[in-house]
Amino acid sequence: MIKKTHSEKETYDFAKGFAQKLMGGEVLCLIGDLGAGKTAFTKGLAAGLGVKGIVTSPTFVLMKIYDVHNRIKEMAHIDAYRLSGGQELINIGAEEYFKDKQCVAVIEWADRIRDIWPKDCLKIYFKILKGDDRIIEIKK
Ligand code: ADP
Ligand code: MG
Repeated sequence: MIKKTHSEKETYDFAKGFAQKLMGGEVLCLIGDLGAGKTAFTKGLAAGLGVKGIVTSPTFVLMKIYDVHNRIKEMAHIDAYRLSGGQELINIGAEEYFKDKQCVAVIEWADRIRDIWPKDCLKIYFKILKGDDRIIEIKK
């Protein structure tokens, strides 16, 4: 699936809609340059799942867990920007969240931790076009 968006709001809304398709257990690997919209997408996803409160980039804590109170119980938000492999995430127990059928895991900068991608993760590629245009491509 390919979606072109023209504003941060449109990316947010697209992710919010996409969240409705999730059953729990998905691992979303977000890949794209700085400013491409990965965090904007994650915020929309969180809103769509029903996360209350503000979702901020977890760069300095590696992983944040949000309660959902839904068919899906939690959203795990990971920022792998400063990693060069997944070992550190394994050390903090991130894989438990990947396996959890009542959790949706979202990984920004997922290209940094390809070594621990679950087989069935969804790849979401972000490309920056001119100005505020972005391409979002979701692949199995
Ligand atoms: P990332 O997490 O990929 O580094 P962010 O979501 O934090 O990116 O930031 C995206 C930046 O680009 C924000 O400043 C946002 O306002 C801007 N922007 C402009 N157009 C778009 C768009 N179509 N989708 C998402 N963000 C956009
Ligand atoms: Mg980000």
